[in-house]
Amino acid sequence: MFVRLRLWHNSLSISARTAWSMAVGLTLVIAATAVVAFGQEQNTAIDESLVRLDQRNAKIVDELAQRFDRIARTQARAIDLFRAERATLTPAQARREFDALYPLGADGTRRSTDVMFDGGRTAIGHVEGMAAFVPGGVANDLEAVRDMVAATHAVRALGEGSRFEIESLYFFTPANAMVIFAPDRPDRLEYYRRTAPASFGFQDAEFATISTQTANPARSMLCTGLQSLISLQNRQVWTTGCMTPVDRDGRHIGTFGTSMPLDQVVPAGHFADNSDDNVILVSREGRLIYHPEYTLQHSSRTGQYLDITTSDKPELRALWALVRKHGKSGFTGKADDLDAYVSLQAIPGAGWYALTVKPERLILAEALRPIPRIAGMAVVALFVCILAVTLALRSLVGKPLRRLTRDAQRITRELANDAILVLPDRDRSSNEVTRLVRWFETMASAIRQSHSLLEERVAERTSALNQANDKLRLLSEIDPLTGIANRRKILAELDDRLIRVRAGSAMAVLVVDVDNFKAINDRHGHVAGDDALRVLAQLMQSLLRPGDALGRMGGEEFVIILDRARPVIADAIAERIRAAIARNSFEVHGNLALSITVSIGVANWHPGDTARALYARADGALYQAKTAGRNCAITSRHVPGAERSAA
Ligand code: GH3
Ligand code: MG
Ligand code: MG
Repeated sequence: MFVRLRLWHNSLSISARTAWSMAVGLTLVIAATAVVAFGQEQNTAIDESLVRLDQRNAKIVDELAQRFDRIARTQARAIDLFRAERATLTPAQARREFDALYPLGADGTRRSTDVMFDGGRTAIGHVEGMAAFVPGGVANDLEAVRDMVAATHAVRALGEGSRFEIESLYFFTPANAMVIFAPDRPDRLEYYRRTAPASFGFQDAEFATISTQTANPARSMLCTGLQSLISLQNRQVWTTGCMTPVDRDGRHIGTFGTSMPLDQVVPAGHFADNSDDNVILVSREGRLIYHPEYTLQHSSRTGQYLDITTSDKPELRALWALVRKHGKSGFTGKADDLDAYVSLQAIPGAGWYALTVKPERLILAEALRPIPRIAGMAVVALFVCILAVTLALRSLVGKPLRRLTRDAQRITRELANDAILVLPDRDRSSNEVTRLVRWFETMASAIRQSHSLLEERVAERTSALNQANDKLRLLSEIDPLTGIANRRKILAELDDRLIRVRAGSAMAVLVVDVDNFKAINDRHGHVAGDDALRVLAQLMQSLLRPGDALGRMGGEEFVIILDRARPVIADAIAERIRAAIARNSFEVHGNLALSITVSIGVANWHPGDTARALYARADGALYQAKTAGRNCAITSRHVPGAERSAA
């Protein structure tokens, strides 16, 4: 696989190869950038989320604290009003108003008249949205009657006055009497007005128990956990209530309370902005007040989740652990057990904690959101970059390389006629550089072969030329008839020896001419004459010493150079040659044996002699020998400077 990939990669052109390399490299860079960017985005997302969680949680805490404050102040004011009414109310007035508002029923209880809820004039003026339940026996207790009448005034006044701020306001006593202002309750408070049994009592309910002196020694406002409304036992309506107890003479005589339905605990504004955050409210006792998953209005299952201190849901137990650990000081950060980021703050005045929670996966998703955009931009940049580089390389490198390859091919093919070459085959699996290298190497080898062929040829020609030159030189120096040195050679030899000869040394020149040779030719023919000249040359050669030289001057005249021969020796040699020739029988063409004589002129070398002068003197001596009757050797007696010029 890897080898395949390599082959494929090698066959790509330089520009494509670079493009691919860049694509791979830049993709890695983009991936690395994306990873780094994701890391940074994640940190940013976490930081931003934490800030937002804190802000949102603070807002909820703030709104709830304000609401609790309003409730607390309303109830405090109700208590003040209650005490003022109680103080100014005469027993007769109290009895009269009590009987008018709460007539005695058939079951011995007293319940509010319909006009109090429906709205209309009563003994205490216009009333609406109110109901009351007074168990039998309470009417006999004048103090209790006065309390109920004073409370009715206070509940009516503050309930009506705070109608748009709080859901309800009620007063109840340890003797199970209660008066309530709650005009918007869908059940129209029918339970208290009609259906509650004569034995209706609620002292065991949390809203009553938290108001006792043992449960609330500070006697300030306390709020309950979620409770299902007693008055709506066929439907589950989960509410929470805040209670402020009222004491007189150190005795608990009643409680003012306000209820908040579950679905109105969390300020409605929180749900309006489509946030991913979840709000959770937990009471100091470890009861869920609000949880988007577990506290569902109108659900009977809600009750089983409320106690989170012993919950079998790990998530709820983790929530409780977090609240217990950080509730007082507050917390902002990651809650590992919840897999979420959390802002936790206490709500002043309620004994509750507000948590705003964002699951970790949502934060990661936020961090990932910009990645496709970054990667997309990078991919576009990558393509533009690769395209530009590819085009640039194609024109700057690819084209020149292909041109070079074509040139190398052309030159190689031209040379290939002479050289033995293996030409690269036309394979498509190589790129332009590989092709250029191959053709360049082939071209180099072609040039080398061609060069060495050329050298071989030059060597051959040179040697042929040398041979021809040698032949020519030989021809130019050898007399073709006799095979001895010709005139040019023997005269050059003479020049040479004259250069080398030193004073005190000796040298002599002999000029030998056949006597009456014309007659021999005439008598026996030229062929016989030639034979005679050849035999004569051989004979003379045989008579000379190794250092001597013999040459034919032309016709039947010869020159002999006698090396280191003093005049006496020269004369003796001349005489010996002459005698030997005269004695010899010359066997020539036509089976003839001829007798031949020669005349010899001898000249001895004197310092300062030129070849011309030496030869002229020998020739002069030869002339004398001819004149003297031939077949003799005569030595020139001339001194240098007085010689006759040679013929
Ligand atoms: P002298 O004794 O005065 O030298 O008489 P001569 O006949 O030798 O001299 P001459 O100069 O009158 O004649 C020379 C002759 O030599 C003439 C020519 O026919 C002959 N001769 C010259 N060269 C050659 C040659 O190469 N071959 C033959 N066969 N004869 C030659
Ligand atoms: Mg002659
Ligand atoms: Mg002659």
